[in-house]
Amino acid sequence: MIEVHTFTGPGFGENTYLAVCGGSPDAVVIDPGAAAAEVVRQIEHERLRVHAILITHAHLDHVEGISLLARHTRAPVALHPADRPLYDRAADQAATFGVTIEAPPAPDRALAHGDRIEFGGCALEVRHAPGHSPGHVIFHAPECRLAFVADVVFAGSIGRTDLPGGDYRRLMRSIREQVLTLPDDTRLFPGHGPETTVCRERVGNPFLIPHYGGELA
Ligand SMILES: [Zn+2]
Ligand SMILES: [Zn+2]
Repeated sequence: MIEVHTFTGPGFGENTYLAVCGGSPDAVVIDPGAAAAEVVRQIEHERLRVHAILITHAHLDHVEGISLLARHTRAPVALHPADRPLYDRAADQAATFGVTIEAPPAPDRALAHGDRIEFGGCALEVRHAPGHSPGHVIFHAPECRLAFVADVVFAGSIGRTDLPGGDYRRLMRSIREQVLTLPDDTRLFPGHGPETTVCRERVGNPFLIPHYGGELA
């Protein structure tokens, strides 16, 4: 079973997830943002072995802690190539917010839909879910009934599509095909805000329900 530890950073309120394969030191980190230093402390305290730094998409809030984490863990960074242009401009993204960040190291692995990332006896499957950004992926653990969905869908909301490379129709299709097809009791861990489930969003998310003016994804 995968144990999920959530670290919410200041500023953007972005969630960095530390996923540990239960009963082992094997772990992966998803989207190291502003809370990366806290994540490093926990990794060192528990002597975890970080197999990969997995990036759902390359917006600033999801990548600003990568260099710190990569330096401490020496774990490879994995990203979908369609978000590589955004990733390479991480420092410029930061400049538009008036902040400076250490540019993240070049990714070590290009993710593709259907890839499987193994750590200890646990595994995450990659699902390409573009719309919020072109290379957005989600990480799904079918055996554990959980998925890291980042900025595709939130508890009661959906990802914004007004940023460069955003596409509302693609986002709705991604939610319909890559999220709502998961079993109803699948726990969803978003990039911002609290965790939710597939069922809760299917029946209660106003952006997805025609009754409230949303579009049934
Ligand atoms: Zn984003
Ligand atoms: Zn975000």
